[in-house]
Amino acid sequence: MKPGQLLDIANEYGSPVYVYDAEKIISQYNRLTNAFKQVPQLQINYAVKALSNISILKLLHGLGAGIDTVSIQEVKLGLEAGYQPDQIIFTPNGVSLNEIEAAAKLGVKINIDNLSILEQFGTKHPNIPVCIRINPHVMAGGNSNISVGHIDSKFGISIHQIPHILRIVENTKMNVNGIHMHTGSDILDIEVFLYASEILFDTAKHFKNLDFIDFGSGFKVPYKPGDIETNIEELGSKLAKRFNAFCKEYGKDLTLAFEPGKFLVSESGYFLTAVNAVKQTTSTVFAQVDSGFNHLIRPMFYGSYHDITNISNPKGRERFYTVVGYICETDTFGNNRRIHEINEGDILCFKNAGAYCFSMASNYNSRLRPAEVLWYNNKAHLIRKRETFEDILRNQIKVDFKLKQAQVQPG
Ligand SMILES: *Cc1c(COP(=O)(O)O)cnc(C)c1O
Repeated sequence: MKPGQLLDIANEYGSPVYVYDAEKIISQYNRLTNAFKQVPQLQINYAVKALSNISILKLLHGLGAGIDTVSIQEVKLGLEAGYQPDQIIFTPNGVSLNEIEAAAKLGVKINIDNLSILEQFGTKHPNIPVCIRINPHVMAGGNSNISVGHIDSKFGISIHQIPHILRIVENTKMNVNGIHMHTGSDILDIEVFLYASEILFDTAKHFKNLDFIDFGSGFKVPYKPGDIETNIEELGSKLAKRFNAFCKEYGKDLTLAFEPGKFLVSESGYFLTAVNAVKQTTSTVFAQVDSGFNHLIRPMFYGSYHDITNISNPKGRERFYTVVGYICETDTFGNNRRIHEINEGDILCFKNAGAYCFSMASNYNSRLRPAEVLWYNNKAHLIRKRETFEDILRNQIKVDFKLKQAQVQPG
């Protein structure tokens, strides 16, 4: 999107505000499906947790995507957005058997990643097919918060426990319809991903009634110029070839599923904030914006880099600024960034603000969560209102205290 269009949105809807470019989501979706066009049955399940606004879900539904959900609430959001139950897969971690049963009752696909739950579910509901999440113990990236395939991870059932899985399946006579892995974010090396895929194929051979193999996600997108990103086209052509060969060997055309979040929405997002104050200390110039980690936690939580530009003064002289928020805690968005000269009132734009940004926002410091705007067909569409003070009070219950005299200090 152009800086002028973003500025107009900030003027109309106020700041801070999240803006999503529908065209970018559409082109990323098409890029992914194109990369895997050699696969006869491809299913892209968008990971709702990345950006769960119902209008975004509707946009992806229109494109033909399914969704990957991690809570019963995300399942319900998907149904509300118009997805058929069989277009929804429920891939939770650490939830109760009750929650899985509630999702199964809604008719969505079930993915189980725990031996104990697998046995309980299979015993009670042998006729409901389930997919099994495997942990292939492959480290995809460097950050242990976002690599979920390694040996000490809480995700998936270890490939070393396949004999246990097979025993449970045999005893309960349950039906396994899918095999799944999600090794974690940021696949930098396609060969590593293909290696993990081989482990998945080896696992799949043990199950005779599969309908699909789900390769999870972890596609890396660029955050700054020159960043490496996952080469989707190369991955697509290599994995498609291998997948089709596996289907021949297996004796059935299976569906190849993916569940990307970041890849589909990260680059579509822009977060616009206004500069409250420029503060010069002995060694640093701080630009303090009307937001904080309550609205965008990734830099503080994961050390993520978000490009920051001054869209109010794109021709100004470049200077060094440390961009911080207004939360009463350290909330640095970017350290010593070269940004066009910043004046109080300017609008700063954070890039890659589509995935894990609004969806991780909170009311910390009793601040209101921002509005969300979708840019579609050269027009801005409000898709979430800015919160109001009433939203902060909602669900809070005032207790009337009749304190005894002795409890209240005089004076
Ligand atoms: C979070 C998650 C995804 C999406 O990961 P991205 O890195 O955003 O593509 C996919 N599958 C599962 C099971 C997840 O938990």
